Amino acid sequence: MPRVEKIIAENLNLTIEDVVEGLLQASGTKGKIPTDVGEILGYLNLKQLSFDFMKELDFVPEITEKRDIRAVLSYHDRIIATHRLLHKNQTIFSTLHEIGHFVLPEHVEKFYLCSAEDLSFFTKLRLEGEANKLAANLIFQIDHFAIEANSFPLGCNVVTDLAIKYGTSFEATARRYVEQHSQPCALVVYDKVEKHVEGLEFDELPGFRVQYTITSKSFSENFFTKVLEEEIVPGKSSVYEAYRKLDVTQTVENKMSITIVGKGESIFDSQLFTNGYKVFRLIYPEK
Ligand SMILES: [Zn+2]
Repeated sequence: MPRVEKIIAENLNLTIEDVVEGLLQASGTKGKIPTDVGEILGYLNLKQLSFDFMKELDFVPEITEKRDIRAVLSYHDRIIATHRLLHKNQTIFSTLHEIGHFVLPEHVEKFYLCSAEDLSFFTKLRLEGEANKLAANLIFQIDHFAIEANSFPLGCNVVTDLAIKYGTSFEATARRYVEQHSQPCALVVYDKVEKHVEGLEFDELPGFRVQYTITSKSFSENFFTKVLEEEIVPGKSSVYEAYRKLDVTQTVENKMSITIVGKGESIFDSQLFTNGYKVFRLIYPEK
């Protein structure tokens, strides 16, 4: 039977999901959670090694900022080098991302046969996006995660439980959870800002801002796609209430009034938790 990499290389019309399905099956990892990166590396005859890129790696071209690099694929040595300082989840994601460059049609050809500097900005962006999509699909095993996530009542506890089970970050899990949920729900992500609001005492607490919003399909069709503005002040905002818990398993619940352009004010249920860096808010229609 021909090796799956050969099939992939010869079929430019395969979708990323097809490639992932083939890799999971051929490496014997399909349905086993968390995805065993070692099995996939072994199947592809690749090795993953950790390095301090600043000191040890000669094959990282001098022109690239070594500091910013998380992982590098050395195609001919069949080695994926990851930065020693990455966390476990980051190492797994970066390794799978490089596996994407190794197996996806076009990638090897574009990255190694022409020099990377010859690629247009948009081609680079597309190839990086494809490698990220492949990595996420390997971790969440295509729709395996969504089927499992949808089998529980909606809630932040499902996100934190599944993040631990799938061995992935809380943020990546929360995004995938909302994107693929069959019920209307949204995720608002708050990150820290260095900012002082005139006349307000923050007591050593960081400032927060809305970084981005993700919605499930049915949520964006019925409500909104983005939280534009929100007053986030200690003592008033549940973002701080969640942040003070400093524990992913402790969820804060409250009601939230949101004004939707053209529709007026609506009340939503919301649940918040923090990973210590960011605060995540799950929003869904009042039950
Ligand atoms: Zn890449």
